[in-house]
Amino acid sequence: MKNKIYFDHSATTPVLPEVAEEMNRYYIDEWGNPSSLYQTGQSVKIKVDEARAKVADAIGADPKEIVFSGSGTEADNYAIKGAYRAKLKKGNHIICFGLEHPAVIEPCKYLEKKEGAEVTYVYPDKTGVLDSDAIEEAITDKTILITVMMANNVIGTIQPIKEISKIARDHKITFHTDAVQAVGNIKVDVDELGIDLLSMSAHKFHGPKGVGALYVRKGMSLNTLIHGGSQERGRRSGTENVAGIIGLSRALEIANKEIDFKKEHLSRLRDRVVKGVLDNIPDVSYIGDTKKRLPGNACFSFKYIEGESLVLHLDMAGIATSSGSACSSKSLEPSHVLLGIGMSAVEAHGSLRVTLGRSSTEEEVDEFLEVLPGVVDRLRQMSPFNAEKEEEYLDETEDHNIAHEHPDQHFSAES
Ligand code: PLP
Repeated sequence: MKNKIYFDHSATTPVLPEVAEEMNRYYIDEWGNPSSLYQTGQSVKIKVDEARAKVADAIGADPKEIVFSGSGTEADNYAIKGAYRAKLKKGNHIICFGLEHPAVIEPCKYLEKKEGAEVTYVYPDKTGVLDSDAIEEAITDKTILITVMMANNVIGTIQPIKEISKIARDHKITFHTDAVQAVGNIKVDVDELGIDLLSMSAHKFHGPKGVGALYVRKGMSLNTLIHGGSQERGRRSGTENVAGIIGLSRALEIANKEIDFKKEHLSRLRDRVVKGVLDNIPDVSYIGDTKKRLPGNACFSFKYIEGESLVLHLDMAGIATSSGSACSSKSLEPSHVLLGIGMSAVEAHGSLRVTLGRSSTEEEVDEFLEVLPGVVDRLRQMSPFNAEKEEEYLDETEDHNIAHEHPDQHFSAES
């Protein structure tokens, strides 16, 4: 069963019918193995090469610089472990943005634990936008890799990639960016932005799940993760996911053509969401930078309630959203992204992420804005610390002359 309204486009997007139709051909009609020397295989190889050229063109790269992968996560792992292992003779220090997706943080932690890496995690201020000086300050003579995401998956903030890559280049350090949330949503040109390694994932721009790509600048040495039959010019062995690759390239071609439309359409709807929420619901804050963010992303923190409850109640009303706190692991740990911009665990627990997509409409936004205040109100009535109870509590603690803490401090992370 599907939700009536889908406002979780940062989690995934539906495959466009024209993309699915094109992919289908490579399951049903053109099913050859691109490594085969006869026509059934070679005609498919030509299509894979065309897809590679389209993907390269979409980000201003050369086709030889594109390596297809099994996901955005794999592309991130390949970039980080591959660059670290290839450059280990020069040093063992990595600079990692503290708000990265686990697909970047976890490989960094793995290298720290198992392969002697030293990793410095660099954090932004409460806007979520990194100050590039912080990167420069973290550089040591052992730094071999800097990894900073282009756009954040929880709060949508866009990083000053050009400034950071210039610092990396000036110090002869490899620069990787996880552009999984950015590619297909905002303009990306690897030369203009000075990027050495860039990860993308098809299912974030109306392509299929389970296929991604890593851009590897010409001349960049990377140790291979997956060894075998030397597909992808030896960089990623395994028979190609032909339909997936075709789907990724077609979806990206369409997404890039729609970038200007999406910028206007999504930011207009997003602003309507933000205004509607802030004007009609008390005790709510808008998280992250107001300007330097993905056009379709709105992220809030509601006082006195938990994001997970909000998500479940909105789901019952047919609306799909997500909470920044549950992240991808379904754990109830507050999101490291929200803690990383200085929010308390309690504030982080009250978060709600709304991410709009190309087919989102004004009517859907209005329905969401009609439903949300009632849901928030009901949840607050049930909350042990709604505004009224907070006042009572403060009066009581004053009456009893108890040195009182903020009630938030009584909210355990598990509550
Ligand atoms: N990086 C970011 C910023 C993401 O948002 C995601 C997925 O949500 C990934 C990496 C992982 O991509 P994939 O789902 O293709 O493994």
